[in-house]
Amino acid sequence: MARPKSVRATFARFWSMLRHFMPAIRRERSLIAGAVFAMLTSVGLGLLEPWPFKFITDLLIGQSTGLLAKFSPNTVLAITSLGLIAIVGLRATSDYFKTVGFALVGNRVMGQVRDDLYRHVQTLSPAFHDKARSGDLLVRVTGDIKLMRDVAITALLPMMANSLVLVGMVIVMFLTNWRLAMLAMIIMPLFGLSTIRLGRRIHEAAGKQRQREGAIAASAAEALSSVKVVQALSLENHFEGHFCSQSKRSATEGVKTRRLAARLERTTDVLIACATAIVMWYGSRLVLNSEIKFSDLGLFLFYLKRGFQPLQDFAKYTGRLAKAAAAGERIVELLVLTSDIQDSPAAVEAPRLVGNVSFSQVTFGYADKPAIFQDLSFSIAAGQRVAVVGDSGAGKSTVLNLLLRFYDPQAGRIEIGGSDIRVWTVASLRKQIGVVLQDTILFAANVSENIALGAEDVSQEEIEKAARLANAHEFISELPQGYETIVGERGVNLSQGQRQRIAIARAAVRDSRILLLDEPTSALDEQNEREVSVALRRLAQGRTTFLVTHDLRQAESADQVMFFEKGKIKECGTHEELLERNGRYAQLYRSQIGSFTDHVPGELHVVST
Ligand code: ADP
Repeated sequence: MARPKSVRATFARFWSMLRHFMPAIRRERSLIAGAVFAMLTSVGLGLLEPWPFKFITDLLIGQSTGLLAKFSPNTVLAITSLGLIAIVGLRATSDYFKTVGFALVGNRVMGQVRDDLYRHVQTLSPAFHDKARSGDLLVRVTGDIKLMRDVAITALLPMMANSLVLVGMVIVMFLTNWRLAMLAMIIMPLFGLSTIRLGRRIHEAAGKQRQREGAIAASAAEALSSVKVVQALSLENHFEGHFCSQSKRSATEGVKTRRLAARLERTTDVLIACATAIVMWYGSRLVLNSEIKFSDLGLFLFYLKRGFQPLQDFAKYTGRLAKAAAAGERIVELLVLTSDIQDSPAAVEAPRLVGNVSFSQVTFGYADKPAIFQDLSFSIAAGQRVAVVGDSGAGKSTVLNLLLRFYDPQAGRIEIGGSDIRVWTVASLRKQIGVVLQDTILFAANVSENIALGAEDVSQEEIEKAARLANAHEFISELPQGYETIVGERGVNLSQGQRQRIAIARAAVRDSRILLLDEPTSALDEQNEREVSVALRRLAQGRTTFLVTHDLRQAESADQVMFFEKGKIKECGTHEELLERNGRYAQLYRSQIGSFTDHVPGELHVVST
């Protein structure tokens, strides 16, 4: 992503960021109003703070004027001391409310943004997730949001307060002594110049560093999620080398940001020292010439120091603000994306789907690739079991992806029960389709919850009935706490076959009329495969079922076999018809059967038709 080149572009980006966070900010408006009130009170009291010192100095050197000249020295001392305590006490109280108020605002607003972002990322289509790196997304949803929240609380909001202090102090300085104030202001253009010049470079370096952090997390997530493969292929050194070099570059960019920020801070210190020296020099001459009182010079120098504090803080916070801005941009980059798969404005809840499934002249290709399907048409009657077979990459899984509306075809219609699937909301369509994939993910919850996942109002009886159908009841009953046993991450580990049977129970509990099975037995050994196949056949009873498989023995019992080759249905019919035709399917089937008999003599597993 290009970095903004000008101050205007930076403001445009900042504005776009604010616009996205505005709904969350608006929700906290009363809290923000309270915190701002506390902040203004604190700034106002800060302006009063040097006055007791001025009155005491006047008293000590006999220059008291006005009302105070009428009181005795003891009374003046008492009033000023009590006044100082009152001012500082009130200021401390309003500072406390300001800090707590802004911390609440920052946490609530960024918490809301994080929830929105997470919800949004989940709704983005698989086309987006195909390209996105999950580690980078994770950094955006957690790290970038955290950085923005911390910086908003510890730098952005104090800087807003500081800007007010600066304006207040400048006004008071001009009211106190305009000539000294003019002298103090001579550093302002120099400060502005160095801030703009260095600020831009800091912003660039910080942006690069945030991007790099995302890339590091993505590399780590990829390597760790397939750590077994990495270890099996002895790729540890390769991944470690890549990770370390990215990490090193991030460190270099981090140091660059810090170096630039330090330069800005020190330049500001020197400029402030110059301005203070000039004011002291000229102010002391004015006191010596009796043009102003000594206490007025003291008062002016106090305001000068306070007034310059925001400039120092500004320099100090620039690096962190730049990092937060870069993090904010990465968040907005995600928020502006819209899913390719959207409910049409007239979409309705899908009714209970029972019926035939058909593809009519469907043309589809993945984003940057040539079309896989050109005018693909087929029709499956309700309740039929279809085996989708063919070479790897022929488009078998893509048929399932289109039925689930993970992607929409570029042309043609996909219909269930005679209606285009786009007339229904995506969620209601997917709810009615049962899915069993090659690898089943179990969530860190108990077995019952894992089975009931995504289905509404399911009783324990229904869960157990589904588990029985899936051939899973027996092994579940033998688990330490039966259906209450926690599985998945940090829970009891189940074998591949057991996981598949939980997935089958999951599909059964939904009682959907359409089933999509994508290589559900391909990762299983012979024994498990047999048990899962039996469960699958039971599950498929009376349901329109698409079984994607490379194992042609699974196709024998299907009502229809669709043999795909390079996105086209080359052969279609029952297993026997295709064998009789003696085409590619028959050839492949015989070679597979041959290889099974070669490898496991006497263990030939042929599902009867
Ligand atoms: P099969 O299930 O028959 O092995 P697929 O339907 O998975 O084949 O894939 C068909 C073609 O589409 C292949 O060339 C594959 O590389 C490509 N493909 C599959 N999924 C994606 C994707 N998410 N993005 C881009 N191309 C894809």
